Amino acid sequence: MKILVINCGSSSLKYQVLDMTNEMLLAKGLVERIGIEGSILTHEKIGMDKYKVEESMSNHKDAISHVLKALTDKEHGVISSMDEIGAVGHRVVHAGEKYASSVLITDDVINALTECIDLAPLHNPPNLLGIAACQELMPNTPMVGVFDTAFHQTMSPEAYIYAIPYEFYEKYKIRRYGFHGTSHKYVAERTADILGVNIEDLKLITCHLGNGASVTAIKRGKSIDTSMGFTPLEGLVMGTRSGDIDPAIVSYIREKENLPYGEATNILNKKSGVLGISGVSSDFRDLEEAIAQGNERAALALKVFAHKVKFYIGAYIAEMNGVDAIVFTAGVGENAINMRDVICSELGNLGIKIDLVKNKVRGKETIISRDDSKVKILLIPTNEELMIARDTYNIVKAM
Ligand code: AMP
Repeated sequence: MKILVINCGSSSLKYQVLDMTNEMLLAKGLVERIGIEGSILTHEKIGMDKYKVEESMSNHKDAISHVLKALTDKEHGVISSMDEIGAVGHRVVHAGEKYASSVLITDDVINALTECIDLAPLHNPPNLLGIAACQELMPNTPMVGVFDTAFHQTMSPEAYIYAIPYEFYEKYKIRRYGFHGTSHKYVAERTADILGVNIEDLKLITCHLGNGASVTAIKRGKSIDTSMGFTPLEGLVMGTRSGDIDPAIVSYIREKENLPYGEATNILNKKSGVLGISGVSSDFRDLEEAIAQGNERAALALKVFAHKVKFYIGAYIAEMNGVDAIVFTAGVGENAINMRDVICSELGNLGIKIDLVKNKVRGKETIISRDDSKVKILLIPTNEELMIARDTYNIVKAM
């Protein structure tokens, strides 16, 4: 069965087609500037040069029509007709407390995800637009929703309840949800495969370090705690997000700077993180370049970032009473050699020893701890699309 995976943002859309008989990626692509002048689709049939379509795409339905055209194109396509697509898997960011795993999309599911818009106002609306557009264009194809929050629904109340008046949880569902669940789950399963150990016998700390970043404690294959919270703003220092701060800072800067409504939160989401500290960039490559030229604030930004990752690793070792493996993934985790070095240095007393030679690697599945390290350290490129395709395939196959 061939599965189309769709990940819709507000003005962009990523897609992949996978053949699930052998989990082969057949094609992938990206539509940018949906609803904005200069819409562009970049399509890639695996093994062929990229193919670009520059036509007006005023909404998500337009964009998906162009994706379907590219997929059935004589030269660049990978299917002869849309009937070859057995199902569509949609990435959806927030499913609240409603779903702890992926589900077949029905009217009830759409209603539940619509109710979660308040919890993820930037993400769920475009995710829902993508689902609606696909349902219109492929009315007979089953659709599956795969949720970023689902994997973390196994957390216990002591990990997800905030110490604020309990009625805010009851009335407004304010609690820790956690995000990047599909990625944390994928790398956890790969770790068990690579180590040849049953996931039930492992305590893992998975570090998804990208532009957005989160750490998860995974015991017996289940998320027991994670650093992102009610929104993806909590936890680690990120590209532009502050991560954990004293909540009193929000009203303090609002007053001091006389900020209009919403601006303090905007600053914490878009102007903070390593960008805010360095004043240079949110991209670690730019920061490394600035550091090479002697920029001290860029150096400080990366030190604060590493400090926070280390802080969470320590916390999660305590929560799980030990750890068998620490896993790095996503843009920074897969590529920033020096950052992995710094995070894992001076943890020898906890049985964590990084191998500085093995660590000189980017974007490749490999073990980077020393042979005498009690705790294994792994680098595993994430593959959320494959995870979405697997869940979609398994649900549709069982129908
Ligand atoms: P992601 O959100 O997972 O796509 O990660 C994107 C981030 O990864 C970028 O903003 C960079 O900070 C970081 N990144 C990507 N490639 C490299 C690299 N070669 N070295 C250091 N950081 C990188």
